Amino acid sequence: MKAVAVTPGKRNSIHLEEIPKPSVDDVPGGKGVLVQVLRVGVDGTDKEISDAEYGAAPPGDDFLVIGHENFGRVVQVGSSVPDTIRPGTYVVASVRRPGSSIYGRIGLQDFTTDNVYCERGINLLHGYLTEYYVEDSDYVFPLPETLRDVGVLLEPTTVAEKGINHAYEIQRRLKVWQPRKALILGSGTIGLLMALAARLRGLELTVASLPKPPYRNSELIEQLGGVYASTQDASLAELSAERGAFDLIMDATGFSPIIWEAAEVLGKNGVLVLSSITGGDRKAEINSDAVNQSFVLGNKVMVGTVNASPADFRSGVDDLIKAQALFPGWLDQLLTTPISGLDGYAEMIRALTEDRDAIKVYVEVNGSP
Ligand code: BGC
Ligand code: ZN
Repeated sequence: MKAVAVTPGKRNSIHLEEIPKPSVDDVPGGKGVLVQVLRVGVDGTDKEISDAEYGAAPPGDDFLVIGHENFGRVVQVGSSVPDTIRPGTYVVASVRRPGSSIYGRIGLQDFTTDNVYCERGINLLHGYLTEYYVEDSDYVFPLPETLRDVGVLLEPTTVAEKGINHAYEIQRRLKVWQPRKALILGSGTIGLLMALAARLRGLELTVASLPKPPYRNSELIEQLGGVYASTQDASLAELSAERGAFDLIMDATGFSPIIWEAAEVLGKNGVLVLSSITGGDRKAEINSDAVNQSFVLGNKVMVGTVNASPADFRSGVDDLIKAQALFPGWLDQLLTTPISGLDGYAEMIRALTEDRDAIKVYVEVNGSP
């Protein structure tokens, strides 16, 4: 069967590779789930892999099948797979697999302390940009039929879910935390999904991002009942003066200096969640005393998050269901840029790198779901 692969370490080496079709018995103990891939989304991580800045092949192979934002339909299951996953069920598989750290042993490999991550489609494990994959049912999450058209958004949604779920988890320290106002930094796919997650938790929503409104992403924020502001028009301090102190701030800009500005405007007892992968070596001048003092006197928290635990996949499914009920058609608008078939990999990379208006570029692997 066909797969889209790169030669790790070699720029622009993306190509089609012929690989054997997996079998449900490849996973021991009857826990195998054989899945026909329907859609795979791509993001900045795939771009980094294609640019040879990141990614490694599985031991013994000189290529890496890419693609981690997956969506598919179950074809066959082993004898020990739970009955929530049957042939025909729509599923999404998670990305990271346990290494040697204790967190992997309790299913929380997103908290691994290992230096080397095993992530499907990213590092040391083949990904999902292919026709079929097989996976242990522990890493496979079922979705209802009603999420057929938007299920490919689940994996990126889990980034937002883990961030917000952990913000609430951390705030249990306060016994009576009643957040009202959320500020999301960034309006790319993750920023939009964070905005949705915040809104679904009943928070007043402000989104700050570079582009000036109106444009598609600012309109998407307004459809959620949120307020969009360009950081070219207002500083975060001005926004906070206008919109009130923020109880929760989540960053998905990819621009690390902004987190120090955010730290300054975070409200008392607030949480600042960081989710951007910033591989560069940017430095920033910060108001060190002011940030430190406000964190001390205001009991504030800054926390990093990398996706995602099984609980975040499950709450992600719940939020996608709620989103369809409360904001019909909103999620569909994120699916801006379909690519037809695995053969379209060159167009996929082009859209990912050049198409500035694209929100989500994704490959229709086997026709529409
Ligand atoms: C993926 C995550 C992964 C992270 C770090 C992201 O693009 O969505 O699953 O953990 O990259 O490799
Ligand atoms: Zn990703």
